Amino acid sequence: MIFPDAMLGMLGGGQLGRMFTLAAHSMGYRVTVLDPDPLSPAGAVADVHLKAAYQDREALQQLADTCVAVTTEFENVPADSLRWLASHCTVRPAGDAVAVAQDRIREKAFFTSCNLGVAPYAVIECDSDAAKAPAHLFPGILKRARFGYDGKGQVRVANADEARKAFKDLGNESCVLEQRIALKCEISAVVARGADGIGRSFPVSENRHRNGILDISIIPARVAPELAKKAEEWALRTAEKLNYCGVLAVEFFVTESGELLVNEMAPRPHNSGHYTIDACMTSQYEQQVRTLCGLPLGDTRLMSPVVMVNLLGDVWRNGQEPDWTKVLADPSAKLHLYDKGKAAPGRKMGHITVTAPTLEEAIRRAEALHAAL
Ligand code: ATP
Ligand code: MG
Repeated sequence: MIFPDAMLGMLGGGQLGRMFTLAAHSMGYRVTVLDPDPLSPAGAVADVHLKAAYQDREALQQLADTCVAVTTEFENVPADSLRWLASHCTVRPAGDAVAVAQDRIREKAFFTSCNLGVAPYAVIECDSDAAKAPAHLFPGILKRARFGYDGKGQVRVANADEARKAFKDLGNESCVLEQRIALKCEISAVVARGADGIGRSFPVSENRHRNGILDISIIPARVAPELAKKAEEWALRTAEKLNYCGVLAVEFFVTESGELLVNEMAPRPHNSGHYTIDACMTSQYEQQVRTLCGLPLGDTRLMSPVVMVNLLGDVWRNGQEPDWTKVLADPSAKLHLYDKGKAAPGRKMGHITVTAPTLEEAIRRAEALHAAL
């Protein structure tokens, strides 16, 4: 086990890295963040902020020399940097597991090999793949295999001609074409798995999106208990088959007929797991610290029904800081801001969590607070 006050390394300086750093600090660890952005949300709270590119050999060397263990907070961190670091210190999750999650083609093949259902899809590597795409995939969504997030790098397509055009517009890069699923809802499961192979899931979250970006998460998810259980099992199975060590998030579709399909995974804590900070015994960030340091996993028990609302840059009208009076006046609403500086439409600036004795009340109050902003 790695005990406080060891120095831990974090590749990536976004809000997930910031919340990891805060959790690590509260347990007495120190944190070095590597992120080229001088104004990064995690860099601002870290003990050391290395402002360099993720492939910068000198910066990686410094991480290796000063940190006992290194983790990551975003999936597009170069897997090779993780692999290089692994020859010098503990790295969790492993670069090989992250590499699967970085590529939708590998990811879907992996889920299929685990016997988990995915939306019908085809791999599109060239114009003629798009031209020959099977009719049952339309209407569909063409997604770039790499470097997509928050619905970016995706185009809705109604037929093969539109798929050809979208493939060109997305830069002639490898893509997957997915059938558009009629959704009853979307859910996600965040799981943690230790180096000893013991895994544990947080309660499943129900996620509502707006413009391809997560808008609110509702916990516990309003789905049949067997379905929530199945989602947890699938996420744990994914972690096990990847021989994963760390925190892993798996996103699911629930179809109109009630079938569970895996959408994608993220090799890190997840936006839909922010609620764990205020409503679970252990947060997903503490769990990340625990898996990184080889500590036993914390209890994931839900203490209260909870709703999380994302605060996007759109709420900062004309760049003005919103009026937080109503949020701060609500004794069971928690405001989290990421210190991102400039607000832009669609940019994740913070979130609010609202707990209440019943889920209905939590939803009502969260929506009212959101509307007031
Ligand atoms: P994020 O980083 O926010 O998770 P992403 O860019 O990785 O998003 P996806 O998760 O693939 O993209 O898609 C974003 C959202 O678009 C999904 O949560 C869902 O609401 C919708 N969506 C994606 N694929 C499908 C599909 N095949 N059928 C129906 N809706 C879909
Ligand atoms: Mg997604």
